Amino acid sequence: MTTTVITGIGELVTNDPGREGLLGLVHDAALVVEGGRIAWVGPAAEAPEADVQVDAGGRAVIPGFVDSHSHLVFAGDRSAEFEARMTGQPYTAGGIRTTVARTRAASDEQLTSHVARLVAEMRAQGTTTLEIKSGYGLSVHDEARSLAVARQFTEETTFLGAHVVPADTSAEAYVDLVTGPMLAAAAPHARWIDVFCEDGAFDVDQARTILAAGSASGLRGRLHANQLTYGGGVQLACELGLVAVDHCTFLSPLDVESLRDSRTIATLLPGVEFSTRQPYPDARGLLDAGVRIALASDCNPGSCFTSSMALCIALAVREMRMSPAEALHAATAMGAAALDRDDVGVLAPGKAADLVLLDAPSYVHLAYRPGVPLVAGVWQAGRPTLG
Ligand SMILES: [Zn+2]
Repeated sequence: MTTTVITGIGELVTNDPGREGLLGLVHDAALVVEGGRIAWVGPAAEAPEADVQVDAGGRAVIPGFVDSHSHLVFAGDRSAEFEARMTGQPYTAGGIRTTVARTRAASDEQLTSHVARLVAEMRAQGTTTLEIKSGYGLSVHDEARSLAVARQFTEETTFLGAHVVPADTSAEAYVDLVTGPMLAAAAPHARWIDVFCEDGAFDVDQARTILAAGSASGLRGRLHANQLTYGGGVQLACELGLVAVDHCTFLSPLDVESLRDSRTIATLLPGVEFSTRQPYPDARGLLDAGVRIALASDCNPGSCFTSSMALCIALAVREMRMSPAEALHAATAMGAAALDRDDVGVLAPGKAADLVLLDAPSYVHLAYRPGVPLVAGVWQAGRPTLG
């Protein structure tokens, strides 16, 4: 098997808990890749020989971003809605229905090529693991095919039939559909099941019913909760021991206690607050309370159409008072944890060789230089895909 040694790494972020500090930094580092895995990490002066040598030129290397929350399977454009929102109209959950009509009308090929373009866009910005949800089909056929499309790009696919109740259906009838024929058609293509638990979408009892049905079909639960209002979604996620509950913008003291006392990760999506002019989640308060936090993009055509994890890091640091180290850790190792993965998000022997070369001397530049394309190279499973 060919081995590659990357030397001249000025600053290597490993996220290895066996090393010092949150990020397990190694300076003047080298890293050896064998096949798709990391074979060795350490000081450059001690690096073993390898078949191929790459010089990082003193730049920083970080684990590839793990984006644990995205909605990439859709058709149509909602820039006019964004413009309207920026000129005074509020964001509501109902806008999802406009994308549903366009998605249903698109061919499989159109959906696939659209997802391919967005995945390539993410990859070019350093994302090496991503989750993709359905949720713009909302019929048995369209949810199943959305997940089949997503499966071509990632194992981390999530059935989100319970995104919003379609306009022509009662909530009760729709929950029956989601937990019955739609779940049966979706489950073979999905690892996860998710519910948009929010005013205007699904309430806590409906979410509980839908997650239980998913669990009975072998899908693991996650939840959109407390994005637009206070509600019981976060506490439901903690009670059920879900791996992650996402958004967490409006939290009561009891919600924070529930998160602290559980293993459930609060996945914060600051691109949404940026794009909807909502108040940001209190990341600082959550971290200080001992809550585990991940950052993800929530890339979707309505509330947040960014695919940039670097932007999410910059927003987390500037607007949510996370430190640059906390934000990067949340966008890599904690993103992996939010997908219950321990093979990615960490650069240590045996882990996936998913890494990003930054055109910067330090990871801090991700927040220090917002909006600047800093990704100089990306390796996915040991193969260079960029740079
Ligand atoms: Zn979402």
